[in-house]
Amino acid sequence: MIIKKLIDVKAGTAEDLSLVKRRTAKTEKILCPSNIELLQAYHTLLKKKRIKKNKNLENLLRTRPIRSLSGVVNVSVLTKPYSCPGKCIFCPTEKGIPKSYVSGEPAVERAKRLKYDPYDQVEKRIEVLAMAGHPVEKVELRVVGGTWSFYDKKYKTWFVKRCFDACNDSESKNLKGAQKKNEKAKHRIVGLSFETRPDFIDLKEITEMHDLGATKIELGVQTLYDDILKLNKRGHGIKETIKATKILKDAGFKVAYQMMLNLPGSTPQKDVETFKELFDNENFKPDSLKIYPCALVKEAPLYKLYLKKKYQPYSEKTLIETIKKIKKLVPRYVRIERIIRDIPATSIIQGGTKISNLRQMIDREMKKEGWQCRCIRCREIKNLKKEKKLYLFREDYEASRGKEIFISFEDKQRKNIYSLLRLRFPSSTILPVLKDCAIVRELHTFGQAAHVSKKDSFIQHKGLGKKLLKEAEKISKKEFKKLAVISGVGVRDYYRKLGYKLEQGYMVKKI
Ligand code: SF4
Ligand SMILES: [Zn+2]
Repeated sequence: MIIKKLIDVKAGTAEDLSLVKRRTAKTEKILCPSNIELLQAYHTLLKKKRIKKNKNLENLLRTRPIRSLSGVVNVSVLTKPYSCPGKCIFCPTEKGIPKSYVSGEPAVERAKRLKYDPYDQVEKRIEVLAMAGHPVEKVELRVVGGTWSFYDKKYKTWFVKRCFDACNDSESKNLKGAQKKNEKAKHRIVGLSFETRPDFIDLKEITEMHDLGATKIELGVQTLYDDILKLNKRGHGIKETIKATKILKDAGFKVAYQMMLNLPGSTPQKDVETFKELFDNENFKPDSLKIYPCALVKEAPLYKLYLKKKYQPYSEKTLIETIKKIKKLVPRYVRIERIIRDIPATSIIQGGTKISNLRQMIDREMKKEGWQCRCIRCREIKNLKKEKKLYLFREDYEASRGKEIFISFEDKQRKNIYSLLRLRFPSSTILPVLKDCAIVRELHTFGQAAHVSKKDSFIQHKGLGKKLLKEAEKISKKEFKKLAVISGVGVRDYYRKLGYKLEQGYMVKKI
């Protein structure tokens, strides 16, 4: 239906496309399809000879390679429905779906169709992304669904192994074998993240997550007010967040916080204060953020409070103003990954998340007011091939009792960032393998994901990463004997070529 309409109206721009999609979805009472789904439908219709080849439409559906602009493709994979020890009042519970998710979310629907099998989810996703023209050699794998740390160990190991198997296109005997194979596989896992609660993070848990190949942990932090956490029945306070952040960073993980606006008990001012504290207080300072306005859904206990008029979501205007204030506070070393969840508007009773193009609306207002967000995501270089002169910047800050050194290649005005490295001088030696080590927690070069084996002129092959690593070695040398990198399994080879050796999951070099 949408495909035919797009052909009829000769849709030529992204705006035309989005208008037709939204209007048709509304009149037909269906979920708004993704471009990739439309592209699949287009190919099916073409095969059945029900439409003629339409180059324009193909390009239109393909010209939004958002997922690979950061240099890698993101693949989300859902764990099976399972209980969670949390009792958060805003969290939906739906039968047959992992806690905190609702049916209709694209990733949930995909997972449901594939019976939550990790292999099938990863394989299908890669297939679809490749079909849409994305280079799929580098995969950032995101495991989502409930609280990861609460699943049993056997399931977790099986789950991650199946993800590696899917990327390797073959089944290995065990996890270690699958990881080894992935070092040279067609689809290399360059990053792996889990989402969990701060109160589940301890030394045992981080060791296990590291063995599985994790490089980044997303913590459900939500707010920095203990009374609001209590009111929402989170079951943990900020003390746990502080501790989790510290040990995760000392073990080299990238730390992402999931934050919630508009929680019961909060106000727009309190929300802004939370973010001020987040960036000022050395106990927090996360590397990246997901900012989700609390979404009011029927499946969550919060709905009852709403019916009793004890909770009222912010208006659209208030929400946008609050997010703008937060964006103005963001330091250059933070990446705002998302400011909305994929919950379908039809499931939301009221509240900010109903505005599905929240990010675009905010961007438009910022442009009108003449300012830009300084976060990494807003400054990442896209697929520009033209090179400007680049400058090396260095920012030092205290975080969780250690020292963070953020170095980056940017243009002179710092409007675009090309490459970054997070170096940490840890506060203590958390694992024996990290004795005498400074740690590289992240090394990333932006630009269109380049095909690993091909030599082309994309930014990723310009050696910026190598230069940053050299710089990190130079900086660390004064205080440490070794440099350790928490590296995705699929990037180990890159570090080997630069003199690093695999030691208990870290790539380590004497400096
Ligand atoms: S911890 Fe997360 S998944 Fe569990 S109830 Fe709270 S929000 Fe939901
Ligand atoms: Zn930003």
